[in-house]
Amino acid sequence: MGIGDRFGLQGIYQLQAFEKALQAGVEITPVWNKSNREHTIVHSAPDDVRTEADHAVKERKWRKDYFVDADHINNSNVEKFLDSSDFFTLDVADFIGKPAQEKDIAAFLYFFKKYQGSLMVPGIARPFEITEKALQEIAGKYLFAVKEAAAIYRTIENKKGKDNFIAEVSMDEVNNPQTPIELFFIMGALAMEKVSFSTIAPKFTGRFNKGVDYVGDIKTFAKEFEEDILEPGSKLSVHSGSDKFSLYPEIARIMRQYNKGIHLKTAGTTWLEEVTGLAMAGGDALELAKGIYAKAYQRRADLCAPYASVIDINPSRLPSPETVHAWNADKFAHSLRHVPGHPDFNPDLRQLIHVGYKIAAEYGSVYLNALLVNADLVGSQVFENLYERHIRRIFL
Ligand SMILES: [Zn+2]
Repeated sequence: MGIGDRFGLQGIYQLQAFEKALQAGVEITPVWNKSNREHTIVHSAPDDVRTEADHAVKERKWRKDYFVDADHINNSNVEKFLDSSDFFTLDVADFIGKPAQEKDIAAFLYFFKKYQGSLMVPGIARPFEITEKALQEIAGKYLFAVKEAAAIYRTIENKKGKDNFIAEVSMDEVNNPQTPIELFFIMGALAMEKVSFSTIAPKFTGRFNKGVDYVGDIKTFAKEFEEDILEPGSKLSVHSGSDKFSLYPEIARIMRQYNKGIHLKTAGTTWLEEVTGLAMAGGDALELAKGIYAKAYQRRADLCAPYASVIDINPSRLPSPETVHAWNADKFAHSLRHVPGHPDFNPDLRQLIHVGYKIAAEYGSVYLNALLVNADLVGSQVFENLYERHIRRIFL
């Protein structure tokens, strides 16, 4: 389970959720992930994530596995993650649709010719109908991205050594989902390139907006997820996977039915729990939470731009900073906390604050000190969110 922690102070509270799961008989491996994008915005370094993870593990005497994930990296920035990370999410979304070399396409078509016709995958009722044209289209769309994943993978392998790291291939931050057939051949092409990936993060059908519930057809998702999970060698990673409460019963059912694991990557929502905890604390901490919202409201366009494919904010549903200024602690916390049936819950406000962590970073020591002063209250929100709203619903 991927756990982001933008400001690096919640590792101990996050780990407590995994301890409680372990006591309940479920071993979940925590993976502290942080993307290059987040490091740039918060001005942190990959080493900081390693320090936090090691510190939390030592403090809590955690004896099971844990990893530090260089999240959404590519060949231009992998270098600085090599020492501190042992998990790498190779993001090749930007390379989808770029033309591969003729000779690579020819090799792909030759290699996968044997799958043409009616392809049955054990467990999947309907056959996949594979034509040469379909293979050409898949190569045209994905082969360049596969080659790119292979190049990043080699860079890591040269430095870390074979089998000394975990690799995930991600293509989730795009608008169009990959179909189960496409995923089959993408994984095949990765194997052909000797990319030994542990997990793959496709873009699933529907919207996976950051920090809020799934938007889309749950039945269509479930069918796609089930077919994806049944493909040989597949272990799925669900990105922006936190808060998708309406999907969890289906994901849990399918995992149990086929005895398969997944990697569930939470969307860096730990930071939202920090803001909730600060709001609950009242006084200066509540004012700080309101200040963060007010600034995010003014700078909405800038903050949202890097996250366009993974948020959907309706500006008309955002309360004005003046309105929020009059809120008490309870009202703010209930508006932000993800409890779908609660009359105060506001998913638009929640998504805006989600992308507003840059503002907290600008508050610098003021923000960090507020977290330290209110550590127990903030930590209780981090724990409760991870354990009660996520781990319990999916894994227990
Ligand atoms: Zn992702």
